[in-house]
Amino acid sequence: MRVIIIGAGVSGLSLYLWLDKLGLTKAHDITIYERRPDVSLDNGSEISIVGGSIGITANGMRVIHTLDEQLFAEVVQAGHRINSWRISTARGWTLADAPTGGPGDDSVMIGREDFCRCFRKRVPESVTKVKKVLDVEIGSTVNVLKFDDGSSAEADLVVGADGIWSILRRIMFGVQSNAKDYQYAPHYEGLVGVGSYVPANLMQEVPQGQMNIVLGRNGFFGYGIDRGESATSKVARGVCWSTYTLDVLPQDWRKLDCDQAQQQLRARHQHWKNDVIRRIIKEVKIDQVWPTFTTPLLPSWERQGCVLMGDAAHAVQPSSGQGTSMALEDAEALARLLAHHLAVDPRSGHLLACKQYSDLRMPRLAKVHKKAQQLGSMKQDMGVVQELVMYAFVWALAKCSWGKSYNEYVFRYDVGTEVEHAISTGRKQEQLHLAHEDF
Ligand SMILES: Cc1cc2nc3c(=O)[nH]c(=O)nc-3n(C[C@H](O)[C@H](O)[C@H](O)COP(=O)(O)OP(=O)(O)OC[C@H]3O[C@@H](n4cnc5c(N)ncnc54)[C@H](O)[C@@H]3O)c2cc1C
Repeated sequence: MRVIIIGAGVSGLSLYLWLDKLGLTKAHDITIYERRPDVSLDNGSEISIVGGSIGITANGMRVIHTLDEQLFAEVVQAGHRINSWRISTARGWTLADAPTGGPGDDSVMIGREDFCRCFRKRVPESVTKVKKVLDVEIGSTVNVLKFDDGSSAEADLVVGADGIWSILRRIMFGVQSNAKDYQYAPHYEGLVGVGSYVPANLMQEVPQGQMNIVLGRNGFFGYGIDRGESATSKVARGVCWSTYTLDVLPQDWRKLDCDQAQQQLRARHQHWKNDVIRRIIKEVKIDQVWPTFTTPLLPSWERQGCVLMGDAAHAVQPSSGQGTSMALEDAEALARLLAHHLAVDPRSGHLLACKQYSDLRMPRLAKVHKKAQQLGSMKQDMGVVQELVMYAFVWALAKCSWGKSYNEYVFRYDVGTEVEHAISTGRKQEQLHLAHEDF
């Protein structure tokens, strides 16, 4: 079978590694197409264009551990283990110290580029080709991809791991490849994020393993260490980010002015009662501005030998802290289902695998999406009363462990168990169907 993965981000790379672990790269022809040379080649760049640091929660770290213990160790080594989130306010009140999971269930904060590098170096260079996919013709037996250099390639299975602006999603939902607006196009959430790396010594009083989020009525500020002092990295590094309301996004939002964003950051947070934030905003150099886009929930993630994963299938608000972990879970689920169904039916098992994958993953993402929207609303501008209500709500939530069941649902998820369950449920339904036909 010919498999083409579009995109060499976390989704595409982790899917390839899972397929390799499960023995599918020997039996099938698998190629990744990536449009950006700086992503597909390990050029050692320090700051990725696609963002600063990411937090990988216990569920995502579990996927990595199951995939490759050595890879897990490298990710931990290149990042910084997080065991608690301190939630405080612009008025200087501490609302909660929330653990990130149970013992041994720590999260990791890590530079996005460091994280991708750990994955990228495990994928053979010959697998990734630098070409931009311009179009996909979805056929009844074979799919044809067209590239920016005029060439084309055929595939039995096309995986859209091509991020929030996914071309495959556009095409699967019946829209011409050059159409920008369609029912499932990314939606701007009215929020913009800025962030950068800062010297770790600006946050000396932050205990080991603590990430900080500070809520206010004119935005949100987060900070912590994203790279510990270690034999490989030598110098510890801090990271900070701030999110604020911007109702109307300019047409040319890809060129939002970093200098202006930096001045606004200072003005926004200078009166906040937090010494670390005051220190950071004096020194920080903003080099990235990210408007927050999400995608609407899709009716399905698969169609006729095409399947979506990661941000291409579900871009949730960064407030969820789940984008990368969900992409990692997608990769394990899709690879396990492909391995199972292709062993049963090597010619068309991938179709059933994609269907089961979509059915399994969509309800989980719907829950995460809903929670992320609630968390995102806490970053919007608000009046004093709303601000105090928000603090009371967060404080009560932490005190009464209201959020516990959601956290357990997210952090304790085990992809292998869920896939086994999906396979056995599918088998039972098939037996029921056959028994019905016999009758
Ligand atoms: C500001 C911000 C903060 C975030 N913080 C967190 C966090 O703390 N924790 C977390 O878990 N998640 C976080 N996320 C979300 C996380 O970054 C994404 O969920 C994750 O990167 C998705 O990975 P992906 O591989 O699906 O997509 P991407 O990382 O977008 O990768 C897609 C790849 O496909 C390539 N591509 C696209 N189109 C084509 C084409 N036509 N042809 C060939 N190649 C193509 C792209 O170049 C890219 O390399 C954050 C996101 C943002 C914006």
